[in-house]
Amino acid sequence: MRRLITLILLFILNSPLSSSHIISKLSSKLNLGNNNNNIINSNLNLSPYAHQQDQSLHGRPLVDPLNPFVTATAHTQPPGSTPTSTPANGNPPSQPQQPILLPLPSLKFPKWLTDFTGLTEWPGMDPPYIPLDFINFNNIPPHIPIHQQGQCSGLNNGDLSQCSFDCFNCVSFDDVYTCPKLSQTFDDGPSPYTLKLLDNLKTKSTFFTLGVQIIRYPEIYRKTVEKGHIMGSHTWSHKFLPGLSNEQIIAQLEWSIWAMNATNGHLPKWFRPPYGGIDNRIRSIIRQFGMQAVLWDFDTFDWKLLDATNYNHKPQDIYSNLNQFKINNGGKGLILEHDAVINTVDIGIEINHKILQNEIQFTVPQCVGGIDYIKKFEGMK
Ligand SMILES: [Zn+2]
Repeated sequence: MRRLITLILLFILNSPLSSSHIISKLSSKLNLGNNNNNIINSNLNLSPYAHQQDQSLHGRPLVDPLNPFVTATAHTQPPGSTPTSTPANGNPPSQPQQPILLPLPSLKFPKWLTDFTGLTEWPGMDPPYIPLDFINFNNIPPHIPIHQQGQCSGLNNGDLSQCSFDCFNCVSFDDVYTCPKLSQTFDDGPSPYTLKLLDNLKTKSTFFTLGVQIIRYPEIYRKTVEKGHIMGSHTWSHKFLPGLSNEQIIAQLEWSIWAMNATNGHLPKWFRPPYGGIDNRIRSIIRQFGMQAVLWDFDTFDWKLLDATNYNHKPQDIYSNLNQFKINNGGKGLILEHDAVINTVDIGIEINHKILQNEIQFTVPQCVGGIDYIKKFEGMK
């Protein structure tokens, strides 16, 4: 009988319905939906590169997040640009590698998720929208146009109620984009290369993870948590959210949260939008999940190291830019890095050991005095 009650309790605690109500309660306590406190942050201290580059390059992933084993050649052209046929050094462009078959999802699809969704396996790149009772579509502003990455002509820079970060560097009152201690963050994992990072990091970091990667590498996700790092959401499959419908955005968020919950029994508080793609439509949805957006004020552009069209971006450039930023910004800031491939993992270790040696780093919740997770379900790993 006792065991039966325990089982029932565990089911309730871990059912999405229960999670929904918890989030719903939390959301209502957060006094969300105030869009009048946005700031146009024209002085946001992006890296020196940010002022020279198309702003749509914010946080571009360095590889196809669904296939971290394929080089970035085919994926890193800015929107609308003409692919370079001959690189600057005169050598013929390297051929994109043939895709390697990805590992299948190894995370078991939990029964509570079957009960809630009617499905029996994890979705692909375009996860199905599952209605949630705590999402109120009336709280989603209808006047912000859907736009693709880099296509900002339909948006108004002066309209604070839109507040697009990917187009105009606009940050809202509850966006986290800097930190009292210069701190590293890592996107696009977990990946097999995350393990090297975990073995070498001397400080605690924040990892913004993709659902499709979590279900392939749940053990690496759990090991990251065990090492004391904080896990945030980076969507299910790395879509540019301002280009999606409200339902598609919700699907990207809910499936990512379910993957995190199924792997380690927790609900994320911190969310980083892929490509920095966020405006007040996206914010109104992530707030209803109880999450908060995390951006950055120093972009390493580490993904460019694998981009055949960016031969001039060398690791040394990243280190010297970061050193300069550290001096100019008084040792404060939030650094954007990636852990999907070995090259950027090595950069991350070098930054940790050399540039930020002897420095205290903060996790995102430490940066702002916030909570690590909305909810942790102990004993359900
Ligand atoms: Zn990313």
